[in-house]
Amino acid sequence: MSVRHWITFLSKEQLSQEKRLSLRLILSIPFLVQIVVAVSLTGYFSWLNGQKTVRNIAQRLSQEVAKNIENQVSSYTEISSQFLLTTQAAYESGNLGFADQESLARYFWKQTQVSEAIPFIYFGSAEGDYIGVWSNPEDVNTLQLQTQSTAPYREIYRLDEQGQVAELLRREEYDPRMRPWYKAAEQAGKQTWSPIYVWATSPRLGIDHAIPIYEKSGLDDTDENSPDSLLGVLSVAVTLSDISVFLQQADVSYATRLFVVEKSGAIVASSAAEAPFINTEMGEQRLLATQSSDFLIRETSRTLHNQLGSFAEVVASQQHFWEIGEEDYFVQIVPFDEQIGLDWLILVVIPRSDFTTYIQANTYITVLLCLVALLITLSIGFTISQWIITLIARLSKASQAIAEQATSQDFGQGEQPIYMKSQSVRELEILARTFNYMAAQLKQSFAQIANVNAELEERVVTRTLELEAANRELKRSASIDGLTQISNRRHFDEFFQQTWRSLAREKLPVSLILCDVDYFKLYNDTYGHQAGDDCLKKVAQAIQTSVQRPSDLVARYGGEEFGVILPQTDLAGAVHVAEKIRAKIGDLKIPHAASAVSEFVTVSIGVGCAVPNPNSAFEILVESTDRVLYRAKAQGRDQIVRCADAGVRPKLG
Ligand code: GH3
Ligand code: MG
Ligand code: MG
Repeated sequence: MSVRHWITFLSKEQLSQEKRLSLRLILSIPFLVQIVVAVSLTGYFSWLNGQKTVRNIAQRLSQEVAKNIENQVSSYTEISSQFLLTTQAAYESGNLGFADQESLARYFWKQTQVSEAIPFIYFGSAEGDYIGVWSNPEDVNTLQLQTQSTAPYREIYRLDEQGQVAELLRREEYDPRMRPWYKAAEQAGKQTWSPIYVWATSPRLGIDHAIPIYEKSGLDDTDENSPDSLLGVLSVAVTLSDISVFLQQADVSYATRLFVVEKSGAIVASSAAEAPFINTEMGEQRLLATQSSDFLIRETSRTLHNQLGSFAEVVASQQHFWEIGEEDYFVQIVPFDEQIGLDWLILVVIPRSDFTTYIQANTYITVLLCLVALLITLSIGFTISQWIITLIARLSKASQAIAEQATSQDFGQGEQPIYMKSQSVRELEILARTFNYMAAQLKQSFAQIANVNAELEERVVTRTLELEAANRELKRSASIDGLTQISNRRHFDEFFQQTWRSLAREKLPVSLILCDVDYFKLYNDTYGHQAGDDCLKKVAQAIQTSVQRPSDLVARYGGEEFGVILPQTDLAGAVHVAEKIRAKIGDLKIPHAASAVSEFVTVSIGVGCAVPNPNSAFEILVESTDRVLYRAKAQGRDQIVRCADAGVRPKLG
């Protein structure tokens, strides 16, 4: 890959095209995921905790409220119970008599003044006598009397504020022994509660708390088994509207409902703004909780019926979480303490929203804080990643720059490499230093490469020159005979062919001289091979110096044979040169004892001449010249024979 290619490869466009993930994304996404998960978990657990707290608080609160109601109702019943038992004890101890109606009326009046909880006290005797005192701040205080003389009527007198009889108001038919309170006490034989009823004088619910009074059996009260005869029944009317008032005051919130029901389902008291009885054609009747005009009381009772069967099924305290209408409610049901003798249930209905509003506010704050934390963390994360990216971008920019710089020619020479600035992060600083080190190394390497390149170039030039010389030498040596240092046979043939062709075009003559050393074998045999070589060198030298024209060529044709090519030379000229050769060799006076023709080394020479024909080869001339050389040998050696001539053997010296 070329450097240019690498630079494109590193470019942002290229990388984004390749869909590589950016560092910003890699650094930001895990941050975001972490925070979102942490925030969601925190929010979720805080919400869960809130729900748990709501349940706990609701449970505790509704239990508390139920307990309060129970206590309050108990305190009412306690008062009436106390009164009944105290009066009974007073009678039994002889301090109180039921026969004296006048003192009994005073006693009753005093008692009604002591406690508002017992506004109506009355006593009916087994004989049908009746006395009752009613302290009624809303209407008139009355004394109700019935004796043997007034029966079957009772007389109702108005009492003044001091409890003194003021006037007779009316008379009405009455028999105490037929009243429910009387019958209930008579039947139970102990203090008991009458069924709840609507008061005749003022429209409110009341209940009678009655106790049977048995006749004292005298001083000798030893017979345990003798049944006491019933003297009469003492009773107290307790108003239940006070419980309603209490419930309304004890109301936890606007949406909360507190109510007390009998197990029959009839309402005893409630915090709702409705009377606990309804007017029908048959008179006033008890209101059933399931028919209450109050939505919450009605629906809670109905849900209870659906879920548990009926009120009678509830025997122990229990708590429910019911969806009533569109909302969720905590419903606490507490049965009355059995000792009181009332078969009632206390119901506390609290909407869940009463608690969740606080919890929700809390949750909102938590979520808000989480969001703020999210924003802060995100911005910190973004800033950090941005910072790191900037640092890394600086590194990658520098490396890109150095890659670009590396393409310039003089990077290794003058130009300073790009250096990375010092980094504030330790790891990046290491990277920067390494980068700078590498940049320096790179520059050094480039410089070294440049040097090596120059050196190599120089070496190539030298080598080329050497090669050229060697080549020339080779060429030369290829055409030179090693021993005699004149042209060899190969060069002779080439040169002769060229000359032949060019002279054929110009139609000019060429002459050939062939020389052969006489009895040279004997010379070798006589003087040795080394001496033979020396002889050949001298002969070659002699022939070479015999020719003058630069176009002439002297060559070693064979072992001890020499050829001389003489372009543009006629036969006469060639013979002249041949004579010169023969004379020069003769002048060398190389002793040759074994020669049959002379005491010195001699040569036989054949001379030929021709005007080359373009269709012929130079070998024709070589052949004919060789033939005349053969003739020269045959005729006695040491002579010149020319073509078409019988040969001459001029005398030397
Ligand atoms: P002729 O007079 O008929 O030419 O007889 P000759 O002995 O010269 O001829 P021949 O052809 O019988 O022998 C040639 C001899 O030349 C044989 C060889 O020993 C000798 N000779 C050829 N080349 C060389 C050489 O390079 N050096 C030496 N020392 N001798 C050579
Ligand atoms: Mg020969
Ligand atoms: Mg020879």
